[in-house]
Amino acid sequence: ACVVAVIVIRKRSKGIKWGKVKEMFKEIESKCALPIERLKQIASAMETEMHAGLASDGGSKLKMLLSYVDRLPTGGEEGLFYALDLGGTNFRVLRVQLGGKEGGVVRQEYQEVSIPPHLMVGSSHDLFDFIAEALSSFVASEGEEYKVPEGKQRELGFTFSFPVKQLSLSSGTLIKWTKGFCIEETVGEDVVAELTKAMERQGLDMKVTALVNDTVGTLVGGRYEDGDVMAGVILGTGSNAAYVERASSIPKWHDELPKSGEMVINMEWGNFKSPLLPVTEFDEALDFESLNPGEQIYEKLISGMYLGEVVRRVLLKISEEFPIFGDIVPPKLESPFILRTPQMSGIHHDSSPDLKVVAKKLKETLGIHNTSIKTRKFVVDVCDMVAKRAARLAAAGIYAIIKKIGRDTLSDDKQRTVIAIDGGLFEHYTAFSDCLERTLRELLGEEVANSVVIKHANDGSGIGAALIAASHSN
Ligand code: BGC
Ligand code: MG
Repeated sequence: ACVVAVIVIRKRSKGIKWGKVKEMFKEIESKCALPIERLKQIASAMETEMHAGLASDGGSKLKMLLSYVDRLPTGGEEGLFYALDLGGTNFRVLRVQLGGKEGGVVRQEYQEVSIPPHLMVGSSHDLFDFIAEALSSFVASEGEEYKVPEGKQRELGFTFSFPVKQLSLSSGTLIKWTKGFCIEETVGEDVVAELTKAMERQGLDMKVTALVNDTVGTLVGGRYEDGDVMAGVILGTGSNAAYVERASSIPKWHDELPKSGEMVINMEWGNFKSPLLPVTEFDEALDFESLNPGEQIYEKLISGMYLGEVVRRVLLKISEEFPIFGDIVPPKLESPFILRTPQMSGIHHDSSPDLKVVAKKLKETLGIHNTSIKTRKFVVDVCDMVAKRAARLAAAGIYAIIKKIGRDTLSDDKQRTVIAIDGGLFEHYTAFSDCLERTLRELLGEEVANSVVIKHANDGSGIGAALIAASHSN
């Protein structure tokens, strides 16, 4: 059967019937299309789920997790704090010297370490040992000026970018892994206890004062710089958002209401799912073969871990039908995750007249040589389709938050609303972030859009964790 298939493909390969290729593309494109009305419906559906998730645990696919962060930074935070940021492809350790009202962030140093892939799917013990070891050597290499007085413990804000059911500000159990992580034995465990044990094994004397999601850290880091920040969004390897909710709008919160009357909610929007989402056969196959089938459907449509992979799947299907890359289907195109989103971004942004960068990327990453300009242009179109769908969907998510907190209409005092965003996808994929901002304006309407500001909060999540540790330290 195999041989027959090859012969059939060869026979067809005499020339590329671009009319037919475009027809196939148009069909896929129509399934990805997101007119503004559809986006508004998606935002409403998300808003409904937000209410359900706040009403009760397990009330929605949106977990709407309590962060126990009920005090946002005032600017008065002071002292030396550490942060550890674990979540995507890298993890980083930070040391932040906060100087109070006058001083601000006096000093900040960090070290970034990439996580060996085998540790993402290995054992809990090995992963936390690796982290604690990096933290320990970071501390060991610091100068005399950081010497901690006798009897005093170093304090750490732990940014852990996965869904966690918090038991308090400084403890919480892992609900599930996402992105490239999958270590069964950690699920249900208190990740702070795991980290603390690993630090003890390293002989490192440090106390975890706060456990925060990266979106919460980004929100808090953003708020430190701008008092109008109401939400933190991550568009990176994974995707998620946190926002400031009125404590009285959280029926599932049974404890005493915090003084501030507010609570930061970690939405875990990556797990949003709705029949309104433009899920194609490519997304279904990707999901089915993923580490977490059936989970994180919205995330799989919008985040950096998956966009390049969706493009690969589309190109593979088309090259099986039409010889756009030559007589045979390029073997590398068959291997999952070979086309990473940064590569896709490079392809998408190629502005040279003969699309040199596209040719180079196709050669380097997929082993595809001698492409015609027409083929290169076509590959760019596929990237554009996948990136646009992602950006428009992400904009709908942000719009849902803005609606939920009632900032989708102009207030009398023309209140600003700032959304702090971080993550490699947002930071480096300009076509994506431009489209996101344009779409959000379109959703809000010109007038309201002028009161909403999108701010890139560069690496705010680490600082944010240190700030939360500082404001909740005792
Ligand atoms: C996780 C979130 C995280 C996001 C961005 C998602 O996969 O579930 O907790 O905030 O990635 O890092
Ligand atoms: Mg950055």
